[in-house]
Amino acid sequence: MRHTRNLSSRTLLFPLIFLALTFLITKDAKAQNDWTEPFPAFRIAGNLYYVGSKGLANYLITTPNGHILINSDLEANVPLIRASIESLGFKFTDVKILLISHAHYDHDAGSDMIKKLTGAKYMVMDADVPVVESGGKSDFHYGNDPAQLYPPTKVDRRLRDGDQVKLGDAVLTAHLTPGHTKGCTTWTMKVKDSGKTRDVVIVGSPNVNPGYKLVGNSLYPGIAEDYERTFQVLKSLPCDYFLGAHGSYFDLETKYPKLKAGDSTVFIDPVGYQNYVADREQAFRKELAKQPGG
Ligand SMILES: [Zn+2]
Repeated sequence: MRHTRNLSSRTLLFPLIFLALTFLITKDAKAQNDWTEPFPAFRIAGNLYYVGSKGLANYLITTPNGHILINSDLEANVPLIRASIESLGFKFTDVKILLISHAHYDHDAGSDMIKKLTGAKYMVMDADVPVVESGGKSDFHYGNDPAQLYPPTKVDRRLRDGDQVKLGDAVLTAHLTPGHTKGCTTWTMKVKDSGKTRDVVIVGSPNVNPGYKLVGNSLYPGIAEDYERTFQVLKSLPCDYFLGAHGSYFDLETKYPKLKAGDSTVFIDPVGYQNYVADREQAFRKELAKQPGG
C-alpha cells in the first residue's frame, strides 16, 4: 500500500516539477530575448534621451561638450546602443562619461567595450567598484555564476553618495540605494521642458532577487538595513520623470506608444513612482518576514 501511495504521489510530483521548471526557463528566456530586442530611441525631455533596448534601459544626456551614457548592458547590446545614439543624430564617440545603475551584468557587461570604443571615463559608486573591476567575480550573490561574469573594467572615478557628475551644462547626482548590489545607484537630474524645470529619477533597483539572503548573510552583512535605507532615500526624492534600469519599472512599453500618439508628458509620473516604490517596499518586507529570523 505504502509503495502504491508513494508511486502515485511521485507520478503527480514529477509533471509538476517539470512544469515549474519549464515555466522558469521560458520566463528567463523571454527576459533575455527582451534584453537584446531593439527599441526606438526617443527624447524623454530636454537633453535626456532613451537609447536602450526593450528590456534594458539606457539613457543619453547630451551636452555641447560631449555626452553622458547610463548603463552599458550586455556586450551584445553595445551595437544597439550605438545605433540608437546615431539614430538621434548624435555621435557614439562623443560619449565622454559612462555611468551604471548597478554592478550586474545586464547593466555593466558592455562597459569595457564602450570604454575602448569611445574613451569614456567610467564612474562607479565605490561599493560597486570591486565587482566591476573583477568582472562580477566579487559579487556577493552571483560571483560564482560563470553566466553572469564579464570583462573586468577599470573604474576612472569612484563615486560616493551624493557626488555630482558634471559635463557641459549637465549635472547628475548619484544616490546610494544599496541592497540589490552594495553600490546600487539611483541617478537624479533636472530637465527643462516648455520653460519648466522638472525632477528626473532613474531608479537603480529596489528589487530583492530570487535567492537573496536578507538575514545572516555573511557575504553581505547589513543587506536588510541597506534595503531599508534605499526605501527611505527613494521616498525622499522629488520625482516628475519616473525612469529606471529596466523599462518594466516604469511601464516603458505602455507609455512609449502614448508618447508617439502625442502625449508628450506621459513619462511625467510622480504617482506611478510613489506606487512603484511602495510596491517594491512591500515586496521586500514580505520576503524579509518569510526568511528565518527576519
Ligand atoms: Zn540587477
